[in-house]
Amino acid sequence: MTPALLVLASGNTGKLREFHQLLAPLGFDVRPQADYGVADVEETGLTFVENALLKAREASRLSGLPALADDSGLEVDALNGAPGIYSARYAGEPKSDARNNARLLASLAEVPEGRRRARYWCVLVLLRHAEDPVPLIVQRSWEGEILPAPRGEGGFGYDPLFWLPDQGATAAELTAEQKNRLSHRGRALQALVVAMGVGQGQ
Ligand code: IMP
Repeated sequence: MTPALLVLASGNTGKLREFHQLLAPLGFDVRPQADYGVADVEETGLTFVENALLKAREASRLSGLPALADDSGLEVDALNGAPGIYSARYAGEPKSDARNNARLLASLAEVPEGRRRARYWCVLVLLRHAEDPVPLIVQRSWEGEILPAPRGEGGFGYDPLFWLPDQGATAAELTAEQKNRLSHRGRALQALVVAMGVGQGQ
């Protein structure tokens, strides 16, 4: 069977790797939007879902293909929900995971253990074409706590600071398979696959 082409409305290599791992076995060939000359759109929405729709629509319009967009971020209770939709650019431009993590640690310097609760959010939007009036939309979260120092080399973004009490590990200490099974993105994608009616997600 020829894999079905799907453009991923993102230039984030960490996300591309995770989507590829999850969708290739289901017969999808996930291509980065850069393959079709699509640049990042301005994320002018105030919610993850608005931004995901903007990204998916632009990628589908320029590629002529179905498009999948992920808008995701970290919500920290002690910071009133920051960095939220601004997670990728928390420490300003150019985007840098290292500077974002340093800013997060500095912002939480006075916050004791037990009050450092946080969660990742992931909203996925799938458009069959740029003017699809019925986008498939799913959202999932992943609960954790922000450590005072990084641990682990895996994942991307805030993963070395994102502690999972149930796992006794940070997200950066999980294998790719473990992260895909547990994470906001992995579980949102499983739900999307069910909504698409193409696999055996849960
Ligand atoms: P987006 O590309 O505009 O959706 O920005 C998402 C940002 O949220 C990333 O750049 C990371 O800073 C953060 N983020 C989202 N998901 C994850 C994850 O699985 N691990 C670590 N950071 C994440």
